[in-house]
Amino acid sequence: MNGKVITNGATQVHESNKVAWNEQTLKARGFRYILMHKPANTICSNVDEVYPSVFNYLPVEKLSELHIAGRLDADTTGLILITDDGRWSFSITRPSRNCPKVYRVHLSKELTADAAIALKKGVQLQGEQQLTRPATLQKIGSREALLTITEGKFHQVKRMFAAVGNRVVSLHRERIGDIHLDVEVGQWRYLTDDEVKSFV
Ligand code: URA
Repeated sequence: MNGKVITNGATQVHESNKVAWNEQTLKARGFRYILMHKPANTICSNVDEVYPSVFNYLPVEKLSELHIAGRLDADTTGLILITDDGRWSFSITRPSRNCPKVYRVHLSKELTADAAIALKKGVQLQGEQQLTRPATLQKIGSREALLTITEGKFHQVKRMFAAVGNRVVSLHRERIGDIHLDVEVGQWRYLTDDEVKSFV
């Protein structure tokens, strides 16, 4: 490595190091960063269960090394970010980062003004000690809204609307941080370098 013979198998190798083996220079395989439009009735797990895994849509190598930064429920559609870089996904999901996630929500009942105020301020979810963090809510129609939250508690959006006496009929994630969903359902693409860096 870098002109020296290394015999210690525990030697740490950084991307900037020059590594050769049998006089052949080895190329570091970088991390992978993927955006996908998750279809309904798929699951964000590496194995198929009741529904097929979203990984079935990804014809790439070493699928088992990939994970999702912020899973969606089986019936939720929209933007998921997939990677094999654990530090990067933690920089998206760790609560202190306050990373905004934008959801388009269709509701079973009309969204009342009181409910909208409560959701913006923070509501008490069943089983949680603290109120949800302040959220942004944009009413699109009487039963449709865009909700932006900076947390990622289990079933959070559905539980937030349940807390104000409503029910989510369909849920779609449009944006995470500065990354917008721009591929068709079931399609995917690699993120650009700028998109990757936007979370670091
Ligand atoms: N909130 C939910 O309730 N479900 C999701 O899939 C994502 C956020």
